[in-house]
Amino acid sequence: MNESPRRICPFCAESIPARARLCPRCRQWLSWRSLRHPMIQLLLIQVPLLVLVLLGFGQFLRIFQRLLDPQPHYTEASGALAVIRSTLNWVDTEKGPRLFVTGVLTNHSALAWRDPEFECRFFDADGNLVDAAHRTSFMTVKPADDPAFRVVIEPARPRDAYHALQVRVSWAKNARAFF
Ligand SMILES: [Zn+2]
Repeated sequence: MNESPRRICPFCAESIPARARLCPRCRQWLSWRSLRHPMIQLLLIQVPLLVLVLLGFGQFLRIFQRLLDPQPHYTEASGALAVIRSTLNWVDTEKGPRLFVTGVLTNHSALAWRDPEFECRFFDADGNLVDAAHRTSFMTVKPADDPAFRVVIEPARPRDAYHALQVRVSWAKNARAFF
């Protein structure tokens, strides 16, 4: 009988066929030259896959960032939107008195801006600041456009305290923002 040569498994000390790549007793891989070796599988398939997933995730984050937070911010383009005229009207509504601030905006920049926030300051006849409010107007202002706007404010003072008005745009969203 021609018995095939045998050797001792270095892991379980059992006698196994000399050419075995996988110990039949303890299931330990004895050869590196097999695609089925768990370590080879990890290096050839799982590690490259993980790298691809991470690269894809980074790209996804960049696209997401561009949609959520496009550059430049309004703070870097300050003065892009300017109020060219504004008027203040006192209106007695059924919910009580309201200040209606109506005006016209202009866009000096080459970018479109969205949802401008207006800072309104109110002064009495002596020029003292008597009230202030920030209001957002949901609109898009395209380059070289000059749309009208109106914001409504609940007055904190009696009617004769409101003598003069000053309005400026304090903030706006880059119109390329997704939200
Ligand atoms: Zn073994």
